[in-house]
Formats: sequence, C-alpha cells, structure tokens
Amino acid sequence: MIRLKQVMKSYRLSREHTVQALHEIDLEIKTGEFVSIVGPSGSGKSTFLALVGLLDRPSEGKMWFAGQDVTDLSDRARTAIRSERCGFIFQFPSLIPTLTAVENVVLPKTLSGRYAGSADLTRGAELLAKVGLADKTDRLPYQLSGGEQRRVAMARALMNEPEIILADEPTGALDDENAKVMMDVFKTMNQLGKTILMVTHDQQLTAYASRTIQIRDGRVV
Ligand code: ADP
Ligand code: ADP
Repeated sequence: MIRLKQVMKSYRLSREHTVQALHEIDLEIKTGEFVSIVGPSGSGKSTFLALVGLLDRPSEGKMWFAGQDVTDLSDRARTAIRSERCGFIFQFPSLIPTLTAVENVVLPKTLSGRYAGSADLTRGAELLAKVGLADKTDRLPYQLSGGEQRRVAMARALMNEPEIILADEPTGALDDENAKVMMDVFKTMNQLGKTILMVTHDQQLTAYASRTIQIRDGRVV
C-alpha cells in the first residue's frame, strides 16, 4: 500500500535554520495492515502521517502509494488520491458548525463533486449508526459532546470508502467508552480489508494493531 525509500523530511524555519523531522525512512506498509505509530512528542509521527497521506512531500527519497510512484506528483494529482483513497481522522474534529452531523459526514462527497443526494444521506446515517450515533444524525455539532463530535469526524472519514485510514491521536483526551467505540470501528474497518495507520501515545491502543512502528528523533527504531 505504502512504500518509503530513504525518505527525509526537513522543515525550513529561516535562511540558516532547518529542522530535520525525519531521517532515512525505509518502510513498507502492506494492504490490510493495522499499524500503530508511537514515539515521544516531537519525534516525527505527525510528519510521517502527513507524508503517507500525501498532505506533504518528502524533502528527499522516494515514495509509492498503491504501487504508484507519488514522489514527484503534482499537487492536483496528490489531492485526487487523497480525497478518493484516504480517510483522515485528526485529534480535533473540525466539524462545520452550521451543518448537522449527517451533513458533516457527507461533506467529502460534496467537496469532491460527487454528492448523490438522498442515497448519500442514507449512507451517512448508516455510518453514524456504526459509531453509535443513530439517534443524533440531525444534531448540530454544538449539541453533541466532545466524544460524539469525534465520532462524527470518524464517520466522515469513512464516507468516501477510503482504502487507507490515517488517524492522528484519534482517541486523545477521550474517555474510555468513546475511545473503545472508535477502536472497535477501526478493528471492523481493518477486518473489511482497510489499511489503518494510527499515531498514538497510548501504549494500550497498540494492542489493536498488527504492528507497531516506533519513531524516535525522526528515525524508525
Ligand atoms: P510528533 O507528531 O511526533 O509530535 P512532529 O512530526 O509534529 O512530531 O514534529 C517533528 C519535528 O519537526 C519536531 O521537532 C517539530 O518541532 C518539527 N516540525 C513539525 N512541523 C513543523 C513545521 N511546520 N515547521 C517547522 N518544524 C516543524
Ligand atoms: P461528556 O460527558 O462527553 O462531556 P456532555 O455533557 O457534553 O458529555 O453531553 C452529554 C449528553 O448531552 C450527550 O448525549 C450530548 O449529545 C448531549 N448534549 C451536549 N451538549 C448539548 C447541547 N448543547 N444540546 C443538546 N444536547 C447536548
């Protein structure tokens, strides 16, 4: 699904200063793997996820996504892959406050110009049921608890039937019950063949994964 060869990522702070966030990453993630990525704060986990999800480009090295060399792909082509094949879940749900839960869930369809009306709303409602929000499809974000908002964001990430799900601290600051709902959905998605990449600082959650990659100081250890 994903292959990185000698990937480096540096951020330029000023003319003289750069931060080397990732060093010489050689890595393969197979289709259907459930990978957790752990490491101390500032070790490069988010940077890694941003590269794999084609949100950012490597400074050096080569990268493949589903067999395609994406190293030098145009922004437009990267956006197309991202919106059609990747589902993102971030720590902050970033829901649109004026849209209901189900309207937020179908947003990826709307944004990619493929909104098909009531069929998508039905599917959006089904996804909300999957994350335990069957009775809250018409609520606005402010009418939902923090954990419920995060679950809406999770349903939204599944709307375009992504092949790979990229999650950055998906359960951060959630209570055990909400965290368990999210992890169970990950487990189900993985059983359906989806590749999952999850950044976490919670060692307990690595039990859900089939493999854990540890990053320290920008290197896979
Ligand atoms: P983690 O997710 O493990 O906390 P990050 O990938 O966010 O780590 O950061 C890795 C390193 O890159 C850190 O030293 C961080 O300060 C630096 N970094 C991350 N994003 C940027 C950026 N946009 N500009 C400059 N430095 C950054
Ligand atoms: P938490 O224990 O996660 O902090 P909350 O106290 O935020 O939970 O929410 C408890 C319940 O009240 C949830 O089912 C949520 O949907 C509902 N709720 C929270 N805020 C509102 C609101 N502004 N309007 C309607 N329902 C709300």
